[in-house]
Amino acid sequence: MISVSPTRRCPCGSGRRYKRCCMPWHGGRPAPTPEALMRSRYSAYALGQVEHVMATTHPESPHRVADPQRWTSELSAFCRGTRFRKLDVIDHSEDGDAGTVTFRATLEQAGRDASKVSLSWSRVAPRRLALRLKNVSDADLRSRVANVL
Ligand SMILES: [Zn+2]
Repeated sequence: MISVSPTRRCPCGSGRRYKRCCMPWHGGRPAPTPEALMRSRYSAYALGQVEHVMATTHPESPHRVADPQRWTSELSAFCRGTRFRKLDVIDHSEDGDAGTVTFRATLEQAGRDASKVSLSWSRVAPRRLALRLKNVSDADLRSRVANVL
């Protein structure tokens, strides 16, 4: 796990200090919005805080691994092998208990681009958000962006 001073800028790229950004959500408080949750997951990946990633992964996510030990080691290996270069939130919306965050996470693995383009979320219990990962094609992403602009 990489440590970051609470007074340094948050790895999610919000421009805010870590203690005023994702740190409370990493400490176990529920993120208040889908965007905040998505940012907290990105910065948790960047910092190797895999417990937060696991706690905020939707129960039905295909990325969930049944064996917690195996999941922890897989996530840790992913974090170690990935450079988390940049996060761009393109669009976010909420509708009752569900919502969507469209983002581009610029990642690099072994010197190659490994960026991911989208994530959707849903609320699974009161005051707790979890994310269901959904990668979209570039064409789908472009149409979503076009709808916003
Ligand atoms: Zn943050």
